[in-house]
Amino acid sequence: MQLKLFEGGEEPVRPGKVVIKSFSIASVTYQLKKVFCGKPGCTRCALGIGHGPYWYSYRKENKKTISKYIGKVLKGISGKNATLQKFDVKVERTEKPGEKIERIKINIFKLGEIYCFKHFFDKEIFEELSKCYNHKKYRFELKNTEELDKGLRYLKHKGFEPVLIEDLSGYMVKLDIYRKYADILKKAVGWRIKGKDRIFIMKDLASVAEAIEKGAKKVSTVGIMPSQLVM
Ligand SMILES: [Zn+2]
Repeated sequence: MQLKLFEGGEEPVRPGKVVIKSFSIASVTYQLKKVFCGKPGCTRCALGIGHGPYWYSYRKENKKTISKYIGKVLKGISGKNATLQKFDVKVERTEKPGEKIERIKINIFKLGEIYCFKHFFDKEIFEELSKCYNHKKYRFELKNTEELDKGLRYLKHKGFEPVLIEDLSGYMVKLDIYRKYADILKKAVGWRIKGKDRIFIMKDLASVAEAIEKGAKKVSTVGIMPSQLVM
């Protein structure tokens, strides 16, 4: 197994915006977007948290799209605020045919027999997923393919893009057992001690890069059996 990722190519954070909610009223489209500045050294972007989210409005005028920054709170919608607030709570992300909405990726790792993921959800989603949250390991766990199926459908429904990861290559880092590891652990879906190292499986490639900045090293999965990764 050759591991491309070990040759130094981390995924850079691309500047851009991710649509969280989108709907239209009277030919004006309102979108709630998370902003990724992508500036080097911006931890919020490196961790996939981004900035905002902020509301924007878009309308067509003489074939041009006029966009307007609204702010954190949706307001200024002529006399419809009350209805809109209600409406907003219920609005589902709509993806029209041919329109591509970027979704936030959540990696779901197959660790032994179970499927694990970590993500900083808002309160509402966290509560809905709380049944599968392991409070000792600080991660969400789906115990079998049936739960996995439900989990995938739920996350998609909430506008995320769950990605099933079976090949852990590129997500594993190790750190000498005597070094501080709390910050790395926060973004790891699992860990265990092997020899004189602590081995972590990081939740995404941004977290791998961050762990390496903190002194961890990439680990090749060569010679590691999946059963050894039950963490
Ligand atoms: Zn940023």
